[in-house]
Amino acid sequence: MANIGYIQMVRHCNQNCGFCSNPETPFFHDLEQVHRIVDDFVVRGYFGVILTGGEPTLSPILPDAIRYARAQGLHVRMITNGQKLADPAYCDTVWQAGLQHVHVSIHSHKHKLEDFLTGTPGSLDWAEKALANLAKTDITVNINTVINRYNCDHLHENIEWFIEHFPFIRHFVWNNLDPSIGRATTNNYFTPKLKDLEVSLHKAMRRLHETGRSFRVERVPLCYMTEFAHCSTETRKIVKSEERIVHFLDQKGTVRQTEWGHLYADVCETCTLRSVCGGLFDRGDAYDPAELSPVFVDPRPIVQRIVDDLQSDPAWRREKFKNLATLPSPHQGQRYRPGKVQAPTGERLVEPSRDPKKHQDPTARDWHPADDEQDADFGLLVPAETESERAAAPGRVPLDRLAAERAP
Ligand code: SF4
Repeated sequence: MANIGYIQMVRHCNQNCGFCSNPETPFFHDLEQVHRIVDDFVVRGYFGVILTGGEPTLSPILPDAIRYARAQGLHVRMITNGQKLADPAYCDTVWQAGLQHVHVSIHSHKHKLEDFLTGTPGSLDWAEKALANLAKTDITVNINTVINRYNCDHLHENIEWFIEHFPFIRHFVWNNLDPSIGRATTNNYFTPKLKDLEVSLHKAMRRLHETGRSFRVERVPLCYMTEFAHCSTETRKIVKSEERIVHFLDQKGTVRQTEWGHLYADVCETCTLRSVCGGLFDRGDAYDPAELSPVFVDPRPIVQRIVDDLQSDPAWRREKFKNLATLPSPHQGQRYRPGKVQAPTGERLVEPSRDPKKHQDPTARDWHPADDEQDADFGLLVPAETESERAAAPGRVPLDRLAAERAP
């Protein structure tokens, strides 16, 4: 496992995206609170921390927060719109502080459309300057894109544009729109239909795959990305039994997420990917279960591929995969019982190869932190950990105490 915690540094922003999942609140984390949260992530054995917002670069303590988290041994990342990183001096400041990885949110290569989506004239120009500055550092860069009604027809064109203008970017993350939180709850015209994103998303994934780049996709059911099911954020988290903790700066407070499934329709019960699929994003009534259709492919190569990707992850825990070795093969014609993995087939999960060159796939290589889940949009409110979970990990800072101490 490679768990990564999130800290919202501030909740204000210098953009005004129409689908923002975490719009402005007056709250912020000060350095003392950041220290306490980082310490808690360390005690929990987390691999890294993602500093986010709002726009985290608007926090005056951001360089100090980066410095502290890095000193505690965490992999330090940030999700940003890139506006402030357009300033070479500021980009250098966060680099020198120890920032290792940045997710820059860009939703379209079309300048006027990006202005509309971000509510900020000239935002793409600034983001381009940020990418140019980041290219001069050793900070690795990903692109985060929220799939919405206005860009879902040219996701593949966006990719061509990035490949042409910023070939050093090797990893992309698509977050399908969450219609149940933030501004998208009122601006519901941003929500795409699954059928409208399918073709362009597939072309984009295939292009990245062909060029040896990697990617992740969140909130898209596997029946809409079957060929690249191993790149589904939810599927990877299900297979790896991951959790995440997010310290929100709103009424949600601190949440710990351990479940990655959403809504499953009746047709999902006959689908061979049910056990590893996150299903249909179920909130906001914006996505239609009638758009789902079962697929009948073998889930085991998908699980195997995810396990193989983890071959050099020092945090990988093989125990977690044992029950997934019992996934049924699709030709057995079994009807799935929701929530249960079916009887063993006798075919065992193959241990990950120690030699990455064994892979024929151009995207296959050693696991790298930047390959792991980098979901920019984390609106899921989940139950806080239970008393028994707390008791099982003495010495940890209880989540409710962190939340209470942070409350205004
Ligand atoms: S039919 Fe259901 S379980 Fe199967 S891929 Fe689609 S959403 Fe997932």
